[in-house]
Amino acid sequence: MWSNNLNCLKKIVLIMILFFIPCISVLAEEVTGSKPAATFTFTNNIESEFLDKHKTVIKTITENTIAKVRKLMPELAESIHFTVLIINRDLSIVNGMTGRADKPTEIEISFSSIYQGGIDKAIEDSLEFTLFHELHHTVRGWTIYGNKFGPGIDTAAINEGLADTFAEIQAGQAANNYTDAVNYDAWTKEILTLPRNANYGEWMFRHPDGREAIGYRTGSYLIKKAMKNSNKNILELSKMTISDIYELAGY
Ligand SMILES: [Zn+2]
Repeated sequence: MWSNNLNCLKKIVLIMILFFIPCISVLAEEVTGSKPAATFTFTNNIESEFLDKHKTVIKTITENTIAKVRKLMPELAESIHFTVLIINRDLSIVNGMTGRADKPTEIEISFSSIYQGGIDKAIEDSLEFTLFHELHHTVRGWTIYGNKFGPGIDTAAINEGLADTFAEIQAGQAANNYTDAVNYDAWTKEILTLPRNANYGEWMFRHPDGREAIGYRTGSYLIKKAMKNSNKNILELSKMTISDIYELAGY
C-alpha cells in the first residue's frame, strides 16, 4: 500500500517536473527579454542549394562573429536577421561571397554558385570577413534604410574603407584580391572633386575606363593612412566624421 502510494507520488512529481521545465524556460526568456542574437532565412537558387551542413556552419560562424563584434562594439543590435542567398554572379575577386546591410537589424549575405570550390569554400574563405564588414556597417549607420550619411563617393569610400579595414584586422585576411600597385593619392583627389551625385556603380564597382572598386580600395588606403598618421585604432576612427578622417589621412 505504502509502496503503491510512493510510486504514485513519484509519478506525480515527475509529471510536474516535465511540465514545469519548459514553462520555466519560456518564463525566463520573457523576464530577461533575451532574443536569439541571429535568425536566418535561407533561399536557394535554381542551380544550387544550401545543404544542412552549410546551414549549420553558417549559423555557428555568424553567432560567434556577432559575439566577437558585440565585445568591440556594444551598440550592435540585440538581434539581427540574416537573409542568406545563392546568386550566379562571379564573386571570385572578393573570395566567393558578398553582403549588404539593409538595417541595423537586417543583413543580406549572398554566396556565388560559381565560386571555385562551391559554397563550402566560400564559407571558409569569406564568411567571417563578410560578417565583420556588414556588422560594422550596422553600427556605423551605413545601411540601405535609415542611412545616417548623405550622398557622395567620398563618404561611401570612407565608410566602406572603415568596414573593410575593421574586417581585415578581425578576420586576419585581405578584403579583396585587387592589386595595391595603383596611385591612391591621385584616386583620392579624383574622388574629392566628384559631384555629390556621381555614379555610384561606376565609382564603387566598375568604372567605364576599366578600373574596379575605386571607392572601396581608395577608402581602405585612406583609413590605413589616417590610422598611421594619428595612432588611432579602427574603433576610434569608426566613431569619427568623414571630414575628420580625410583630414587625418592628409586631405
Ligand atoms: Zn560594405
